[in-house]
Amino acid sequence: MDLDALWKRTVEKLVGEGIITSEAVRRAFLKYPRYLFVEDRYKRYAHVDEPLPIPAGQTVSAPHMVAIMLELADLKPGMNVLEIGTGSGWNAALISELVKTDVYTVERIPELVEFARKNLERAGVKNVHVILGNGTKGFPPKAPYDRIIVTAGAPDIPKPLVEQLKPGGKLIIPVGSYHLWQDLFEVVKKPDGSIRVKNHGGVAFVPLIGEYGWEE
Ligand code: SAM
Repeated sequence: MDLDALWKRTVEKLVGEGIITSEAVRRAFLKYPRYLFVEDRYKRYAHVDEPLPIPAGQTVSAPHMVAIMLELADLKPGMNVLEIGTGSGWNAALISELVKTDVYTVERIPELVEFARKNLERAGVKNVHVILGNGTKGFPPKAPYDRIIVTAGAPDIPKPLVEQLKPGGKLIIPVGSYHLWQDLFEVVKKPDGSIRVKNHGGVAFVPLIGEYGWEE
């Protein structure tokens, strides 16, 4: 089977399992298959529902994990979204397809900034801006955000990210231990600036490194 047929099968499986629940996320997954965002030697594994290696010892998340986070984020066209942890650029491409406007994504490893930019260019994604920096501080120039999606595990909810959310805005972030096992938090900023946190259970992400994350 070719890469496209394998990928379509994975997407329909995620729909069948009730993990992809919206037509918008299904379409975004079909438009940007994961194999466009990994090195050649991993393309034939891109449909497998597991994380895959990307350069600099990092990973691109499993398709089901990305789908769960995007469905929780409930992205709509026009939303101002910040992603922390660009990695391969795959999740940012999916976000851009869902919001249909500019997306900002911050990555701390220069090699991955280059990797993601090349992947996004080859995939024809034009509205994703990859920024080199420490995403635990957010990205103030484009704040406030409707949604912030963090794709690395933090020790706690970084304060600057809550500050950069709009009232009613939502932060999706894994919070827990340095190596493996965090809980996926959905953090909603209430109009009075306080937060409501809902725990969506166990996940496993590489660490979020930086001032409001883990020490290197
Ligand atoms: N979203 C990515 C994708 O679609 O390929 C996968 C992200 S990977 C699981 C986590 C990424 O977070 C890594 O690339 C890592 O370098 C990055 N990261 C860790 N700490 C960071 C920080 N403080 N600021 C920005 N990126 C960070």
